[in-house]
Amino acid sequence: MASSASKDDSSAEYWSLTIARSDGQGYTDLDQNPLDLNEDSDVTQLERWEVIIGGHLAMQLAPKEDKRQFKLAEFPKGYELRVAIRKDQARDYYLYGHPASAKSIYRTPGEFASHALWLASGSTDNSQCPCDLCARYVEGQQKRAEAIAAWESNPASHAAAVHYSTPPRSQPASVQPEQQAQQTQQSRPQQQQQIQQRQQQQLQMFPGTTGFSNVFRVGEMVWYRYSAWRLGVIFSIAARPGTQPGAPDTGYDFRIAPLGHATLQQEIIIKDAPSMRPFLTFSVPDSPAHIKGKPFDEVDWLALSESERRGKDPAQHAQALQGVGLEASKLAARTINDCFSFFNKIHDEPTPDNLFRLQCFQGVYYGAEMIVVNDPIRVQLGLPADGSQQHPAEPPVPTSGIMHVQQIQYLISLAQPNQRPVLRFQGRLLRPIRTLADNPPPGAIPPETLGPVFTEELVSRNMLEKNKSMRWFWVIISPRTLQPAAAGEDLKNLTTTKLEGDVLGRFYVSAKIMQLVNMDLYKQWVERGAVDEPPSYLNNRGASGNLGQIQRRPTRKGTFGKAVYGEFGVSRGLAEEAQ
Ligand SMILES: [Zn+2]
Repeated sequence: MASSASKDDSSAEYWSLTIARSDGQGYTDLDQNPLDLNEDSDVTQLERWEVIIGGHLAMQLAPKEDKRQFKLAEFPKGYELRVAIRKDQARDYYLYGHPASAKSIYRTPGEFASHALWLASGSTDNSQCPCDLCARYVEGQQKRAEAIAAWESNPASHAAAVHYSTPPRSQPASVQPEQQAQQTQQSRPQQQQQIQQRQQQQLQMFPGTTGFSNVFRVGEMVWYRYSAWRLGVIFSIAARPGTQPGAPDTGYDFRIAPLGHATLQQEIIIKDAPSMRPFLTFSVPDSPAHIKGKPFDEVDWLALSESERRGKDPAQHAQALQGVGLEASKLAARTINDCFSFFNKIHDEPTPDNLFRLQCFQGVYYGAEMIVVNDPIRVQLGLPADGSQQHPAEPPVPTSGIMHVQQIQYLISLAQPNQRPVLRFQGRLLRPIRTLADNPPPGAIPPETLGPVFTEELVSRNMLEKNKSMRWFWVIISPRTLQPAAAGEDLKNLTTTKLEGDVLGRFYVSAKIMQLVNMDLYKQWVERGAVDEPPSYLNNRGASGNLGQIQRRPTRKGTFGKAVYGEFGVSRGLAEEAQ
């Protein structure tokens, strides 16, 4: 029993009861008003709720002969009694915090008493709770699970077919004469088809994603709000009824497997986007000395669970195990952050100089994130080490920038088989630049040629802009000088490559991510008329790892290993390679 009673002098006639366990969500942005403790009726009602709930608990839990009076010392963490003030100034009281949603409320202390009793029982299975909110919650979860199952088994609702980006060598090696003739004949319809295909590419969503510029993707590691922030993995995403394809993240429900250790059997939970954050939003807290810096698999979690439980009474076991789970989740997150796995191979051939075998993929699970061709990513800039640029650059250049990913490459040395293969990203470097609206800067490039995220970023920046004679442009950055491409430079050929260590994380549409993760900061941007540049509000991938060296895993499931309970499968349309 996770409850305790104590006598408190300030309320002499009552003994205080505390419920140690809570599933309260501590929602922010709740309806109605917080209690005003200068308001007599608020104080009276608070005590009334506490006494009624305490009385219920005591009736169920205390021995019959116990004639003491009990009251609840405080609501379980994350629950809050709030007051609705009617036009005639009458005051109604509601209790908020149930995990079903921020709008799920208890209207009477009696309604909550049964939930409190269930909390005190130590059960974490909502279907065992007799309260109305839990009944509806469980029903809702079942319906969602069914909807997800239906959605998953219906390929039409998935982001249709896989679209392949141009592999490094898209030209056929040789063309037979009759083929040539056919091609000439067909050139018109073929051209049409190509254009159509290209347009379709613009409209098709990649498997595992929900929208062109949405934040969360299947298989990504994220933070989610429980009572505090916890780490988990998105197992699948389901559209809510009425959500149109491509709707923002808020139109979806996310099935998240909590990170921990499989033996703890943490069940999948369902979260909405506002109660989630990309992994790189927060840093993973430090681990205690005896496991700090260890890879997840090197810790004997079972033995650790046993030793944590030793000497404790059964009531404390659950808490001890939860503590172990939390530690496991932190190490798992650091380990996952240092792993990558590819999907959808589109090229596999020796390089022309025969020094490397070059494999290209349509996407990679890289650390917490899923990165696909055409995504923008944040990268470390740094000038070439070959001295082709004089230091320091004039004017000074930022240390990080944005790359439009055109190829995801894996280079395996043929000349030196012992050499570690290299993951690298190829693409062009870009920078948003603000200048006079009617005077595009050198190197400016139409955002439509870069894709929806780039377009949306400019649209939202220009919308925020207060001085309407100014405008934002995407400008290609010369990899040699790290300055905007000079007039006359061939913008198409200014590609460069970034090694795994230089990749800081995905780039999100600034306004979109901030409205999702920090509305207050977004409001500041609106007020100011400008967004912050991304490194100021996101971590860099490399800052959270612990293996020292990034490691390839054959599959995403293999990357998660024993850190999750349940079977992860990549989205239909993604083909992984078990090597
Ligand atoms: Zn309940």
